[in-house]
Amino acid sequence: AAKKAGRNKFAYFEPQMDQRLQQMRALELDIKQALEKNQFKLAFQPIVDAEDQSVASFECLVRWTHPTNGKMMPAKFIPAAEETGQIMEIGRWVTKEAIKTAAAWPVRKQISVNFSAVQFQDSRFADFLRRQLKRYNFPADLLELEITETAFIVDMENSLKQLQQLKDLGVKISLDDFGTGYSSLSQLQRFSFNKIKIDGSFVRDLETNPSSAAVATAVAEIGKALDITVVAECVETQEQLDFLRSVGVTRIQGYFTGRPMDAEAAEALLIKEAPAVGEVG
Ligand code: C2E
Ligand code: MG
Ligand code: MG
Ligand code: MG
Repeated sequence: AAKKAGRNKFAYFEPQMDQRLQQMRALELDIKQALEKNQFKLAFQPIVDAEDQSVASFECLVRWTHPTNGKMMPAKFIPAAEETGQIMEIGRWVTKEAIKTAAAWPVRKQISVNFSAVQFQDSRFADFLRRQLKRYNFPADLLELEITETAFIVDMENSLKQLQQLKDLGVKISLDDFGTGYSSLSQLQRFSFNKIKIDGSFVRDLETNPSSAAVATAVAEIGKALDITVVAECVETQEQLDFLRSVGVTRIQGYFTGRPMDAEAAEALLIKEAPAVGEVG
């Protein structure tokens, strides 16, 4: 009887596994096409100063409109691309496109791109990055790589070594989605990050969940103590902004202060903010 039940169980799960595999393969092919046919685009979301809401930098986020399926969300295809290794090529494309775009703006502004842990396997990435910065004559210190805590789980020593090699190019390194991962605090001691980004999950329910407010406050304190700039992501209301500012968060990112926008809109925003040429005082 047990044997029979086991067999039934197996027969029940197998088609599902198969389906997942097929979906993964289809997505892999679609991503391959997207890379070949240049279907990816970048969106630029302003990260603003908590005091005066002037633009401090832009986070560059990958966007993909599939020819038949429409808009695809990074939360879905980035993990798939990490699984297949295609993130290596996507990551290079995003990095190059971000540098190229920001280098053409009439106003110099810091930009950040997300760097997946899987990209540590791209052993020539540092070389690639150096070449792109040179090619577009873009100052290294205006580029920031955002890396999530989970990046350090598999091989912490190696990850930190590679991260240092990237930092040695002069680029900035920020710790993304802070508070969601594992052993956050020890990482802050092991590597000198330029920024910490409080994960949106703590911002979303700031007003209703005292423990989220406590986490946000604690991260702001850590930032002050270690002299690291703290950014809050996913800020959607004035109340959230006011609270975060009151506890010492100095940078704000979210729909309340600016949605991700295309390159032209980002450039227009910078030009609007910059003092007019020839203006004095
Ligand atoms: P992330 O790096 O934490 O990026 C912030 C995400 O929060 C973005 O989602 C952004 O659109 C969203 N967001 C910003 N403000 C708000 C807000 O006020 N409310 C809400 N609900 N959401 C807000 P997006 O672009 O869908 O990206 C999701 C994640 O996918 C990113 O999280 C990042 O982990 C990954 N990702 C996006 N682009 C890239 C990329 O080029 N390379 C890699 N490796 N990962 C990427
Ligand atoms: Mg990010
Ligand atoms: Mg984030
Ligand atoms: Mg996040």
